[in-house]
Amino acid sequence: MTSKSLTLTIMGSGTSTGVPVLGCGCPVCRSPVPQNKRTRCSALLQWAGHNVLIDTSTDFRQQALREDLDRVDAVLYTHTHADHIHGIDDLRTLNSNPDGLIPVFGSKQSAETIQRIFSYIFHDVEDPGYRPRLSVREVYAPFELFGQTVVPVPLLHGRGEAFGYRVGPLAYLTDCSRVSESSLRLLENLELLVVDALRFREHPSHFNIPGAIALARQLAPVRTLLTHLSHDVDYAKHSADLPEGIAFAYDGQKLSFALDG
Ligand SMILES: [Zn+2]
Ligand SMILES: [Zn+2]
Ligand SMILES: [Zn+2]
Repeated sequence: MTSKSLTLTIMGSGTSTGVPVLGCGCPVCRSPVPQNKRTRCSALLQWAGHNVLIDTSTDFRQQALREDLDRVDAVLYTHTHADHIHGIDDLRTLNSNPDGLIPVFGSKQSAETIQRIFSYIFHDVEDPGYRPRLSVREVYAPFELFGQTVVPVPLLHGRGEAFGYRVGPLAYLTDCSRVSESSLRLLENLELLVVDALRFREHPSHFNIPGAIALARQLAPVRTLLTHLSHDVDYAKHSADLPEGIAFAYDGQKLSFALDG
């Protein structure tokens, strides 16, 4: 990786249950195909020698081991549903600076919720014990991180809200059911769109596959990956039905892009 490239790794491509779903014996959950095994949704962005994680999924430990991850320099949180945050404790051994804090970014609501749910991390206690050393930063607008502009993209996630994030030519939009006009304007000229596409049937808080394809057609990125997938998606069987330029994401998938500047 050069200092002017951006690499995306799909840490997890699964919905909140993961695939296989515990207790389910459906053909996808019993499938031996690696692309049908989906840990909870997360991604890793790497640029300028830095590792920036999007969410700390319930399966973060397993994902970090698989990717041989030895350091996390920042975390971008999309929202605070359990599947996106519950791996937070495993950040504690991945801080490159033993005297420093890993910055974790999110909306005001995400920042407040993370500090409330994981109060043991942030409360000043006499015995520091083993806990992640984090500094929470609320973000509202584009901000600079390791020499690149990170653009939070407000999304509607059912009755709630989530952030997508754009870095250079790449946008990662998990957990969303609608994109406002103002957010659509932040998503022009993409090389890669990664977007929530839970399943074929409609869902109140996630794009289904036809909805995600419609968004991809509207934004016209060079390439689109569908993520946050349920066990309704059989990778091999259903991939053939996707339009050109659109594919299902899978765990461990990597893509690299050139960055300006
Ligand atoms: Zn989710
Ligand atoms: Zn199943
Ligand atoms: Zn969610």
